[in-house]
Amino acid sequence: MGVAGNAGSDGTLRDPEGLMGDAHRLFEELRAIRRDIHMHPELGLEERRTAGIVSSYLESLGIETKTGVAGTGVVGLLSGDLLRDQTSVTQREESSHTPRVIALRADMDALPIQDKKDVEYSSKVPGKMHACGHDGHVAMLLGAAKLLTSRRNAFSGSVKFLFQPAEEGPGGALPMIQEGCLEDPDVDAVVGVHIHTEMPVGKIGIKFGPCSASADSIRIGIMGRGGHGAMPHRSIDAIVVAAHVILALQAISSREVDPVEPVVLSIGAIHGGYRHNVIADEVNMEGTVRCFDQDLRQQLPDRIKRIVEGVTRAYRAQYEFTYDFGYPPLINDDSLTEFAAGSIRALLGDDAVQVMKEPSMGAEDFSYFAREVPGTFLRIGAAKGGNASNHPSHSPLFDFDERAIPIGSAVMAQIALDFLRGISGSA
Ligand SMILES: [Zn+2]
Ligand SMILES: [Zn+2]
Repeated sequence: MGVAGNAGSDGTLRDPEGLMGDAHRLFEELRAIRRDIHMHPELGLEERRTAGIVSSYLESLGIETKTGVAGTGVVGLLSGDLLRDQTSVTQREESSHTPRVIALRADMDALPIQDKKDVEYSSKVPGKMHACGHDGHVAMLLGAAKLLTSRRNAFSGSVKFLFQPAEEGPGGALPMIQEGCLEDPDVDAVVGVHIHTEMPVGKIGIKFGPCSASADSIRIGIMGRGGHGAMPHRSIDAIVVAAHVILALQAISSREVDPVEPVVLSIGAIHGGYRHNVIADEVNMEGTVRCFDQDLRQQLPDRIKRIVEGVTRAYRAQYEFTYDFGYPPLINDDSLTEFAAGSIRALLGDDAVQVMKEPSMGAEDFSYFAREVPGTFLRIGAAKGGNASNHPSHSPLFDFDERAIPIGSAVMAQIALDFLRGISGSA
């Protein structure tokens, strides 16, 4: 397939395997898959139709395919055919004795949002929409599978294709891991991508170290004693206590935690009370807690509880406190990230790589994969019209430049090929 190699403006050879050229030729096919999925969005753990598209595509390529992983997840396994005696002595010395395995991951779920775009591929399902680009991730990974299948005689080792459900919640990565998707054969590295509409097409964002935050939730109940609004001294006003608790919790980020260590604690919901002249007996609150440091994260439940307990006791109220651990922080592996950057530069040129300085306080359950094996999560530039989008992800008008799809396919395929052949060997 394809003629490999184009000289870039700086004279260096780009796209040495011809991956980008072949990916461009897949553009219409991949766009059709993306639009089909876009028109038929499915929420987390309901991705049966999407999983069907994925599994029949993988099977048509001759890839060993397992469906029903963690409900609706699909895992494909492609093993290289490169014969040992064809491997040069140098390559054999560089690579480890056991063949390596790299996993590439896409999420498949949509969001409970009404699509308000006026395009022919708008969602046909009322109240459901691919507003985070996961339809694009599926198309990208299927494209990578096709590019790698046609090159299976050029590598040894294996590529695992992880199509996971429910990234937007309740999470599909952890149950897939629990069902063994990183074993048999054991995965050595994992790469995930996300469409990024703040970045032009052709740019790929990489991030060393902390990439996205943990996302835990808290529930706080304040129990006072109800009464008449005219006689507050004969009751315990749960609303006043709740107000003090909310303000005191702001000291977590401002006075409890090192100011150079990011932490977010936001109370997003508060419910209590009956009417203007009744003292509320009970208030219930919910909030989100986010950070990057796992040690700090383990300490936060006790620190928050101490404040809730101290304040409620000061006002003679009772409390209930629940801390639910959600997605862990996503920490990219530095050497795998550097390795991926080398592959991207070879594929798209030096200026394609954008090193992202700041992590996101958003969360991403790719973190579970990256907690098990070295992982890196890349942003694929997909700004429509070249400008950062006015309609960010999770907006009812969200859309992305579909030219990003073949680029995402080629990026994943290039990293996988380089990793399995130990080309720059830093990972
Ligand atoms: Zn999202
Ligand atoms: Zn997303």
